[in-house]
Amino acid sequence: MLYFHHPAALEHDPRPYLPEHPDVPERVAAIEQAMERAGWPGCERRVAPVASVRELELVHSVSHIRRVFELGGIGGGELDPETYVGDASFRAASYAAGGACAMVRALVAGEARTAFCATRPAGHHAERDRAMGFCLFNNVAIAAELAIRELGVERVLVLDWDVHHGNGTAEIFRHRDDVLFASIHQLGLYPGTGSVTDAGSGDGLGYTINVPVPRGSGEDVWISVLEHVVLPPALDFRPQLILISAGFDAHRKDPLGDCRLEAGSFAQMACHIRELSAALGAPLGAVLEGGYHLPALAESVLATITALDGAGRAESIAPDPLVTSRVAAHVGHFWTL
Ligand SMILES: [Zn+2]
Repeated sequence: MLYFHHPAALEHDPRPYLPEHPDVPERVAAIEQAMERAGWPGCERRVAPVASVRELELVHSVSHIRRVFELGGIGGGELDPETYVGDASFRAASYAAGGACAMVRALVAGEARTAFCATRPAGHHAERDRAMGFCLFNNVAIAAELAIRELGVERVLVLDWDVHHGNGTAEIFRHRDDVLFASIHQLGLYPGTGSVTDAGSGDGLGYTINVPVPRGSGEDVWISVLEHVVLPPALDFRPQLILISAGFDAHRKDPLGDCRLEAGSFAQMACHIRELSAALGAPLGAVLEGGYHLPALAESVLATITALDGAGRAESIAPDPLVTSRVAAHVGHFWTL
């Protein structure tokens, strides 16, 4: 599998603006130390290229791109109460988006079946014209759009397992039926969007699957909704490319979420999606989103990469009686579960 990274990820640091900010460069350093200790299992490392302005414009408005660039140029500042731009942030965000673009180019070209982008800042909260929630450019959305507009891919599945709802990706593809967006996230957590009743709009109705789970949810609930609510529509949709917005803040130790996943839970989710990818013959790429407890993040990314590379098998579990049946009732309006 391919592993994309770039040292610019270590340069974006919001702490000059908010000393306790959880999105620290050490997140990527912790991941790479764990990968190094494990001997980079199955990984061919590639340095991410920078995204061109044209690639950023696949998703973002010119005014948004200019705003991020110019704020960095005058020494930095805040774009929303938790999203900061320093003088290195535009550069880091451009390499993060560029890594996601290079990843889908390589996957679609058949250079690998699976890939992981360990870049930051994250992207899934960023909307077309707005940075938010630590996110400047929506890396996964840019990659999905690139695949469709320039690489001949007709259908992309984006599965977001970050503990927060991927509102930016959801909004960018809200009206579209060529991107199936499915998000599992903690109910009531930031940014407050992602209700199970929001299934997209217009031509995109049914192509947004929101699965909020209660705080305290563990592997039984997360894997159950993945297996019984998300994967059946994903299989029916027949994506030619699968992207994971891979946040690791649903880990039980994470300071921002209140869920109870373990590193092995992420590996199980990765196994389920890897087997979907194999069944469909669709390549699979994951892009780092959240995850703020450094050892838990590092252990979870290593477990995910190992699973994406082929270790372990997806284990089927029975639907949990509460959450799965409730969300299945909504998603079942649009898909056969
Ligand atoms: Zn998150």
